[in-house]
Amino acid sequence: MVDLNRRGLVLAAGSTLAASAIGAPALAAAQDRKIGYAIVGLGGYGLGIIIPQFKNCQHSRLVALVSGDPAKAKRVAAEYGVPETHIYNYQNYDSIRNNPDIDVVYVCLPVSMHAEYTIRAARAGKHVMCEKPMAVSSAECEAMIAACKQAGKKLMIGYRCHFEPNNLEAIRRARAGEIGKLRYFRSEHGFVAGNPSAWRLKKAMSGGGSLMDIGIYALNASRYMTGEEPVSVYATERTDRSDPRFREVEDMIEFELEFPSGVLGSCMSMYSANRNQILLMGDKGRIELEPATSYQGIRLRVGSGMGEAVTPPPTTGLRAGTTMWAGQLDHLAQCIRQNREPIVPGEEGLRDIRIIEAIYQSARERRRVALRA
Ligand code: NAD
Repeated sequence: MVDLNRRGLVLAAGSTLAASAIGAPALAAAQDRKIGYAIVGLGGYGLGIIIPQFKNCQHSRLVALVSGDPAKAKRVAAEYGVPETHIYNYQNYDSIRNNPDIDVVYVCLPVSMHAEYTIRAARAGKHVMCEKPMAVSSAECEAMIAACKQAGKKLMIGYRCHFEPNNLEAIRRARAGEIGKLRYFRSEHGFVAGNPSAWRLKKAMSGGGSLMDIGIYALNASRYMTGEEPVSVYATERTDRSDPRFREVEDMIEFELEFPSGVLGSCMSMYSANRNQILLMGDKGRIELEPATSYQGIRLRVGSGMGEAVTPPPTTGLRAGTTMWAGQLDHLAQCIRQNREPIVPGEEGLRDIRIIEAIYQSARERRRVALRA
């Protein structure tokens, strides 16, 4: 799953277009043209986090907006230099097919809309970056993968931590055997959910509660930190259903993951406390990230015995100013140019959703659920 050699390529972004059949001038022209992104959904993440990141990108640029709010779209377009001809809404969305400036559609919508807007983008001949969690069900994930394959387009999931230097350094150290034989993984992820009417707390729009939204970070980290796929899950849910926020979705869910090597994974996801932590223990030491997957201030600690050291983030291979978001956007751009698969393709999102479905089943049926390979 996690391929450190391919990650190395990501970190050295822009350095390679090695075995190309086209000549140098054509190659230079192809490199010069940045890959154009259309952002669908101008909400907290699409507008607040992703759009401002294009200034940090080497290979990607913002070229179009899709929004249900024309005034907002016009304002954002003016601020970021997007022509008004490149503003779309949810009704005329399919006409993006006629806009050659758009190479990629980045889906930043509520989870229940991911499948529809990914499939429509693929049918319009566009590559897709889709936010996590990939969709509300594994069946939808499979349909998204099939649509992109049929259209011959790339599908990448917005797992930004696969481009975050501290997380990458933690993976590198674990794979290098620095903490010995891996024994135990723990991750707690949570935040305090607010407005009961928000889409995240409506099951039809979110697909589930804290596990879908924030617990997925713990789950995904258990797989990239160990480099293994879990073989079974056992989960327990605790939710106060009288709390208006949790009428439809779960608050706390604790899940144990069994890995083939014998590593035990223990994860907690919640919507009623703030927490953001990863711990990987081996027989010669441990690696801790806290905060582990937040937007900023991520700290890596590596230690053995009772002591610990704080390890500053690695800088080797990273361009000054590069962020995990720029790394993510430019990675897909490079994959499109070089016709290779993203390190976090649709299949990676599907794996998490299948495990999440098993976690919910385990909590419901109060039994261990085996996962298919
Ligand atoms: P948000 O509510 O802030 O924004 C959602 C956007 O979708 C808004 O612009 C809203 O107008 C639009 N929308 C269109 N139709 C809608 C409908 N029927 N109901 C509600 N909104 C509708 O949400 P967000 O926090 O920006 O999350 C969007 C996606 O990004 C989600 O998939 C979420 O999981 C993901 N996300 C990822 C990260 C990350 O770190 N990778 C962080 C936050 C959110």
